[in-house]
Amino acid sequence: MNRKIVIANWKMNPLTLGEAEKLFGKVAKSAPKLKKTEIIICPPFIYLEKLKKLSRKISLGAQNAFCGDIGAFTGEVSPEMLYNLGVKYVILGHSERRNPPTSGGENNNDVNKKLKSALNASLTPILCIGESARDANHEYFNIVKNQITECLRGIKKNLISKIIIVYEPIWSISSTPNRKDATPDNIREMAIFIRKTLSDISSPEFAGRTKIIYGGSVTDKDAQDFIQGGGVDGVLVGKASLNAEKFLKIINIAERL
Ligand code: PEP
Repeated sequence: MNRKIVIANWKMNPLTLGEAEKLFGKVAKSAPKLKKTEIIICPPFIYLEKLKKLSRKISLGAQNAFCGDIGAFTGEVSPEMLYNLGVKYVILGHSERRNPPTSGGENNNDVNKKLKSALNASLTPILCIGESARDANHEYFNIVKNQITECLRGIKKNLISKIIIVYEPIWSISSTPNRKDATPDNIREMAIFIRKTLSDISSPEFAGRTKIIYGGSVTDKDAQDFIQGGGVDGVLVGKASLNAEKFLKIINIAERL
């Protein structure tokens, strides 16, 4: 069965643990018994331990992790630590970490090290890729190909299919000034291109097994078009995941498809 994946990226929200518990609790309580969909919520690190105790229906993911397991790395959290807490997933390579408002963003090489470390710790990485803008010469295909090739360099072929790939073009994310809506056709074309690129670096079989999802201003109004029309295995939801009702509608759409 082709399982769908619906991921919430809460980013640096909400402000208090009480609000986080309320939002998580609402989703956990009202989510139907899901047969075909996996829900993954990625809250800020500090809420993970408490939320873990609230529901088994929902898997937890972190929004980042460092490389290695333990050591003198001030301010960092290792994938081993997350795994020991019961966290199963980790978002890596998000554009807001590649181009943060402060200096010192991550490049593909940094993401590659983090991916290897997360896989070593038995976490499932959720790898974000996507161009910042579309150009008439279709250079954005090369940008995405380059991100895939560099981020996955040296990772064993059979492990590549364990990684969830999120096509998240920066120009469509809700926080991007003057953002534009992606169309299901944009997504379908890029999802095919990503699978072909994965096939070239692993094998058609492993590429066929890899989950490819879409992220960028997904709401309850367009989730069906994006998943069905875009031919993807699910969605990564930022802003709309902070509203339990909207997020539940998206979950229900994925389950029905
Ligand atoms: C994101 O940035 O990961 C994201 C999905 O954001 P939004 O849905 O708010 O565009």
